[in-house]
Amino acid sequence: MAKGSTWNYLKTYLGKNNITYNKYLKSPHWYNLKIRFRKSSYCKNQCWICGSKQNINIHHKTYRRIGKEWVSDLIELCRTCHKEVHEVEKSNTARQFRLSKTHHRIKKQKRKLRSTPPG
Ligand SMILES: [Zn+2]
Ligand SMILES: [Zn+2]
Repeated sequence: MAKGSTWNYLKTYLGKNNITYNKYLKSPHWYNLKIRFRKSSYCKNQCWICGSKQNINIHHKTYRRIGKEWVSDLIELCRTCHKEVHEVEKSNTARQFRLSKTHHRIKKQKRKLRSTPPG
């Protein structure tokens, strides 16, 4: 785990509160934050990367403010893209860029794939 990475904020927060991430996801804090997000203009009810409206998850772009997140720290991703973002975050290539930009990178890659002419 790279020093100063967004994961460190998460680890510190969980350690301080002596909870697991699963417990965090069941906490009133996360529940209320999700409601605030859904009421905000950030909520589009579609995947930020591919535009899918199915199986929408809420993803943390950064854990920098965990415990007192801004709604702008969250983003909607479909289950498929969400998995992809986390796989890239865990991969070695993730060290080369800011983790909070992972979703930007994946969207760009997908756009490139789509615009490549067949054959
Ligand atoms: Zn998607
Ligand atoms: Zn996520």
